[in-house]
Amino acid sequence: MRVFNLSSGSDGNATYIETDGVRILVDDGISCAETVKRLNLIGVSGEDIDAIVLTHEHTDHMKGVDVFSKKFNTPIYAHNDVWKGVYPKLSKTAEANMRIFDGQFEIGDLLISPVEIPHDVKCFGFTLESGLGKVSLLTDLGHTTDKIFESVKGSQLVYLEANHDVTMLRNSTKYPLALKMRIAGKNGHLSNDDSADFAEKLVLTGTRQIVLSHLSKENNTPDLAYTYISKKLGDKGIVEGTHVKIDVALTVPVRIFKLK
Ligand SMILES: [Zn+2]
Ligand SMILES: [Zn+2]
Repeated sequence: MRVFNLSSGSDGNATYIETDGVRILVDDGISCAETVKRLNLIGVSGEDIDAIVLTHEHTDHMKGVDVFSKKFNTPIYAHNDVWKGVYPKLSKTAEANMRIFDGQFEIGDLLISPVEIPHDVKCFGFTLESGLGKVSLLTDLGHTTDKIFESVKGSQLVYLEANHDVTMLRNSTKYPLALKMRIAGKNGHLSNDDSADFAEKLVLTGTRQIVLSHLSKENNTPDLAYTYISKKLGDKGIVEGTHVKIDVALTVPVRIFKLK
């Protein structure tokens, strides 16, 4: 199983996941041309993609989907409730490529388990399993729940939102109060602080690789997210580099993860 994040954050989110039998994208929030360019970095072409699975309707998760699907005849999978928001934003995608899931589903040898996550529109996180491992993607969630934890625990690799530093967000002069409240709210985005608490639970149940994702450009930095979360884990006796490896997903691809 290979996992390659093409882009992360408000500029666009897209993650490539490959098994021996299938190649998919979870979200495609960058342009089709840019998606293809970044896939080419690892020797994958647009035609190779078997499906795009969508988390939710926000543009930073589906900007490239319509053009990509038309160009490469790619099926798009989304939950029925997510389709309600996605459908009006598509004009080029063939109806036959609009696939609905409602619960666990399979694409080739990949078993995909959606879990609903609290956001300001209907939104899902995913656990993707093959015989080679278990990977989870969790971004765009205002808070974590026991149900989410039960779904993702035991994943070797987790892309976990670390959207903002609460102090930077509070002190921001760029964001109006209403937007700050939305981001920090129960249906907004996960802070570094909350991300660290969830990361601790994941590490205690076997996760060995966490990639901090969907960082705010305005209210976080890669260094701050990494340092804050590593330190908070360290205070609980979890040593970054020994008990867990922590990376940060950026707006450009950083590295490829291989699970055997
Ligand atoms: Zn987003
Ligand atoms: Zn969103």
